[in-house]
Amino acid sequence: MALDRASGSRKIVEVAVPVPLYQCFDYDSGDLNPPAIGTRVQVPFGRRRLVGIVTGTHDHRDERSLRSLESALDASPLFEPLDRELIEWTARYFAAPIGEVYSLAMPVRLRAGAPAEWSPPWRWHASETATSQTSTKLGRRQQAAIDALLKKPRTDAHLREVSGLDRRGLERLASLGLVRQVTDSSGEQPAAAAPAPALSAAQSEALQRIGDRGTGFHATLVDGVTGSGKTEVYLHAARQVVEQGGQCLILVPEIGLVGGMIERVRARLGLEPCVLHSGMADGERAEQWLAARAGHPQVVIGTRSGVFVPMPRLGLIIVDEEHDGSFKQEDGCRYSARSVAIWRARQRNVPILLGSATPSLESLHLVDAGQFHRVVLPSRAGGAELPRVRLLDVRAQQLDHGLCFESQSQIETHLQAGGQVLVFLNRRGYAPAVMCHTCGWVADCSRCDAHLTLHRGRGRLCCHHCGLETGPPQRCPDCGDRQFAGIGAGTERLEHALSRRFASEAVLRIDRDTTRRVGELDARIARAESGDARILIGTQMLAKGHNFPNLSLVVVVDADQGLFSADFRAAERMAQGIFQVGGRAGRAERAGEVLIQTHHPDHPLLQQLVRGDYSGFARMALAERREAGMPPARHFVMLRAEGAAQDAVLAWLGESARIGRGLFDPSVAIWDPIPAPMARRAGRHRGQLLLECDRRAPLQSGLSGWIAAIGALKLARSLRWSVDVDPQSML
Ligand code: ADP
Ligand code: ZN
Ligand code: ZN
Repeated sequence: MALDRASGSRKIVEVAVPVPLYQCFDYDSGDLNPPAIGTRVQVPFGRRRLVGIVTGTHDHRDERSLRSLESALDASPLFEPLDRELIEWTARYFAAPIGEVYSLAMPVRLRAGAPAEWSPPWRWHASETATSQTSTKLGRRQQAAIDALLKKPRTDAHLREVSGLDRRGLERLASLGLVRQVTDSSGEQPAAAAPAPALSAAQSEALQRIGDRGTGFHATLVDGVTGSGKTEVYLHAARQVVEQGGQCLILVPEIGLVGGMIERVRARLGLEPCVLHSGMADGERAEQWLAARAGHPQVVIGTRSGVFVPMPRLGLIIVDEEHDGSFKQEDGCRYSARSVAIWRARQRNVPILLGSATPSLESLHLVDAGQFHRVVLPSRAGGAELPRVRLLDVRAQQLDHGLCFESQSQIETHLQAGGQVLVFLNRRGYAPAVMCHTCGWVADCSRCDAHLTLHRGRGRLCCHHCGLETGPPQRCPDCGDRQFAGIGAGTERLEHALSRRFASEAVLRIDRDTTRRVGELDARIARAESGDARILIGTQMLAKGHNFPNLSLVVVVDADQGLFSADFRAAERMAQGIFQVGGRAGRAERAGEVLIQTHHPDHPLLQQLVRGDYSGFARMALAERREAGMPPARHFVMLRAEGAAQDAVLAWLGESARIGRGLFDPSVAIWDPIPAPMARRAGRHRGQLLLECDRRAPLQSGLSGWIAAIGALKLARSLRWSVDVDPQSML
């Protein structure tokens, strides 16, 4: 009886807590008024204290004793119902822990409990006393800031970007009376929009067709080679939305592409976009996120997790380079921002444009199914020609540090003609294996089923899978000899060979090893774009949206990597890489050339590449996938597990398969568990279990029950495991 009375006044609050568990947790509201759904609360969790999101409240139903909320952090919800629905859908669809998805959707500061207050941004103006005359009192950055402000007022963030001056530096200038802050909450116009080029016939038709389908939900694939003017189309569509008072969300796959998009938005729309990516300072990111949530900026540019940013006036979503694998997060919450974006467009009943020079087979499949419309921008704006693609048969040829004779002589020819050359190889380091010259022993990682890569400059052997590093071998452990040879070539080796051969040229290598320091990638890309370095060597980092106006030759060193991989998507990725890189060649007036080194010149997929025909390639690859019952024709869910013993891993996966067969609809095929293609990594044994179905619904409806059941198995406690819905890779 007493319990009843107590429960009448107190509530149970359900909280999504940022932990890798698939449920929300109940707390007693205690003395607090139950906080509103969508607000942040501080809760005790184990021995920790965490910030979570309230996802529901209900009356006490039983006599459980619950821990109490510690405090409520927000007076009004941080997430509105539509935002929560999006996050909760993501958690459900991708089988991701709900609290972690909420966490992903928030900037770090807010996750940590900082106040969610937003006030209209300050703009800095130059005072009348400021001049462009260099004064000895001012530092280089301070002068740069003043020069920038003399042209137009700017926000903190914008000013920092152009001058490098931080907030403290600005305040010093203010104290000298050289700059002042002005609040401007009205629609700001930082600069007049530059006049847009007259649209080509294809661009106008594309826009017309997009416009004809109205302002409600529809998905359009904007399919056009690099430089065909897709961005120009996006920006026209964005302008229409902005002019109607709406907000437009633009997603790009990686930080390196954000800067270019900001510039284009500024130039075409004459407005300052809101920007969100992981390279920003925490405070700035929170500020931008809150501004978007307040409905303030008209255009939001973000990388992957930007897809969750609350935008009350959302009117259009654009996903640029939609084929790019970076939209899928491969650890923690394994969600695809591209899929979330499509769902969000449908939820908000707004159009979505997905653009690429090399559309994903997913998108082409949806075009065939009538769910996406496709507009094609056939030729390059400005009329530059497409590159000419040639296969170089390297069978039985002498390779000099990975390059055949024809590649080398073409590089020379293009350099002599004043062009710029890009050598593409998706393998970093000097050599992917080191072998004993006497007996053939190969240096392997002791913790993985993998060879060690030689990094010659650092004098180390490194494992690219677990990070293990050792010194180079002194003596062969098998035969005792001291002669070793690096087998095969990586980007470091190409750099070494090309710098020697073309000693007067600047050779610029762009891969993970040369761009570890903050700012180094941007600096190298800038040098590449300026044409200052004429020999570029890069991994897939270079195969993305950069603009090298002088580039005339691309050499693809190893096309065979992609043709014979355990991963069914490898060929698609390789072709996309080649077309993306090839698309950088000959962007100005001159036609570019692409050379592809291969041991399999007759391979039908390569033959399609030679025709310069991505869409022919994609047709063929899609037909193969349909034939083989692979995505996107079928839907996959991959359960992965790793642990100290192979037996335990396979036993748990086997038990999971058994439970699944009793639980999922019979249309879901559940395979037997197998060891992963790399069966041991970082000393742990790995296995996987594949579930597949020709429809999503039967997979989806069984998923959460299955996860709860297999997670409760005793064996699960000794393993690390994850569920991957729509896996990008089978590795
Ligand atoms: P994509 O996004 O397909 O790579 P962009 O929109 O970036 O192509 O266009 C490539 C280049 O061509 C840009 O410099 C752009 O300003 C220019 N451009 C685009 N459309 C036109 C047009 N209709 N007339 C003239 N130049 C154009
Ligand atoms: Zn040996
Ligand atoms: Zn290793």
